[in-house]
Amino acid sequence: MKILVTGGAGYIGSHMVKALGEKGNHDIVVYDNLSTGNKDSLLYGRLVTADLSDMQTLDALFRAEKFDAVVHFAAHIVVDESVRNPIKYYRNNFSNALNLIEACTRHHVTEFIFSSTAGVYGIPEKMPVAEDAFLRPINPYGASKLMVEQALRDVSLSSDLRYVALRYFNVAGADPLSRIGQRYKEATHLITVSLRTALGLREQLNIFGTDYDTPDGTCIRDYIHVDDLVNAHLLALDYLLAGNRSRVFNCGYGHGYSVREVAEKVKQVTGVDFKVNETARRIGDPPSLIADCSRIRDELGFQPAYDDLEYIIKTAWQWEKKLRRKE
Ligand code: UDP
Repeated sequence: MKILVTGGAGYIGSHMVKALGEKGNHDIVVYDNLSTGNKDSLLYGRLVTADLSDMQTLDALFRAEKFDAVVHFAAHIVVDESVRNPIKYYRNNFSNALNLIEACTRHHVTEFIFSSTAGVYGIPEKMPVAEDAFLRPINPYGASKLMVEQALRDVSLSSDLRYVALRYFNVAGADPLSRIGQRYKEATHLITVSLRTALGLREQLNIFGTDYDTPDGTCIRDYIHVDDLVNAHLLALDYLLAGNRSRVFNCGYGHGYSVREVAEKVKQVTGVDFKVNETARRIGDPPSLIADCSRIRDELGFQPAYDDLEYIIKTAWQWEKKLRRKE
């Protein structure tokens, strides 16, 4: 199989490339503009350094290679940045995704896996949230991802394209051998920020909001290890290649942890009692997001292997320490 992985030099994309490479039977082409990704995160595959806004390069690539499937990770992911700079998000996450979808239809590539987000739900009425819940994103990041889902649905109805959209909950952790992990210098995600605080790279961890309607007042998230998430992609790929219909699946574990619980666990794993500061809410944050995972379990046979916050944090901690030694 020849597979195009956009954003394959990024955090989740590089773990996907690793998993595809380890299967041994795939020809992997990575398309990445290296804006946040790194060349040396690629354990396998060939890299095309280009932007998805560059329709000419995309077209030439699709003409030269006959892809069996596309896995689309390349996107901006910082929620509060999307609130401050929505055009950046609509342009890259939506408009550039549309270029890629168009290239697929023009060159008869019919299998497409899309990195979507639990952010498409906004503030769900029911928790855990299932795929058929109302879709009312509360920030441009979630909205830009939902627009891609809608485009995929419409294009799939008017062409041979079939897709799986995977709605990620909170992805964390790293390769257990610490070869790859989150490299983004300006990381904003809770586990990475906490670990970098434990390493002394930040003075303190700010907890954004302690007055939410949750048991300890801080937000609750469903954290999934990146290697489990990648396994969900492999299952989705097999599902599409077997000729199955387009489908949307949640990717999480079905239970969550509060910000305070995560901060405590990071302290325990690292052995560092770093400073925690309670601050105001961050814009665009829903109080609680937990996946109803029954669909992916029942239809794709997804079984998590790393549903353990301590393991998630440990693998990320090993990686962060290695990253510091490298830099
Ligand atoms: N969070 C926090 N301090 C930080 C980073 C995140 O309190 O330095 C909180 C954030 O407000 C949210 C939760 O941790 O409630 C998870 O945020 P993250 O950015 O990791 O992921 P998101 O859920 O926004 O995709």
